[in-house]
Amino acid sequence: MAGMIFGTAGVPLSSRERSSLAGLERVAELGLGAMELEFVHSVRMGEQMALAVGERAAKLSLSLSIHAPYYINLCSADPEKRAASRKRIVDAARVGNWCGAKSIVFHTGFYGELSPDAAYELVVEELKAVLAETADFSPTLRPEVLGKSSQFGALDELLQLCRELPLLPCIDFSHLHARTGQFNTFAEFGGVLDKVESALGREAAENLHLHISGIDYGPKGERKHLLLAEADFNYEELMAALADRAAGGTAICESPNLEEDALLMQRTYLKK
Ligand SMILES: [Zn+2]
Repeated sequence: MAGMIFGTAGVPLSSRERSSLAGLERVAELGLGAMELEFVHSVRMGEQMALAVGERAAKLSLSLSIHAPYYINLCSADPEKRAASRKRIVDAARVGNWCGAKSIVFHTGFYGELSPDAAYELVVEELKAVLAETADFSPTLRPEVLGKSSQFGALDELLQLCRELPLLPCIDFSHLHARTGQFNTFAEFGGVLDKVESALGREAAENLHLHISGIDYGPKGERKHLLLAEADFNYEELMAALADRAAGGTAICESPNLEEDALLMQRTYLKK
């Protein structure tokens, strides 16, 4: 049976050391099942360390994913910036290939002056180039649903992108909520899961990659991440919808308290 596993966005706060290896040990001690390596500013991990991280994760039966650097804009008007953006995704995918990460999550970019349609066309061309360079790598590339209306990454455009190219989405349910103010009930969460399944197939619905946290938002969308207890995000109903639809995959917690909210979600999910 499919099922969700839960993990942290980066090294848990209660880890003895701020290293990926210590972080994996702590994730396992806590009884969680996954960790996302956060390459926030740049991809600095070399092959030797990536291999060690992959071995440790395998030994602890943990699932790994990678968040590519934030500074990526495949919609930039500047070809050099687009090339640098492609390189950041390719570099992250190379490390992911070394360490056996299942998924590489990235932020696609900002519409800027472009219409959503023009941005879409540009993103397709840029991602084709990325996919040509990462064809030999095993991780799945996943553009993320983003939380600001200025960002490329609405659910529908990502599903279309994932139908056209060999990609899968990273569904950030908190971003989806922040972007629209909606998507906060059992029916809406279930509707998103059904939409993913009808667009991309049952296999995708059993191989989800989710980001979840509490979130503060305004008219333009995301402001900042919050603890689940301090936010209006209805994670309990999301957990119920995931169980109801027999969804599978990985849910990464991006709340400021990382492992505490990851454990809260895991406990809630297992009770459903
Ligand atoms: Zn992200």
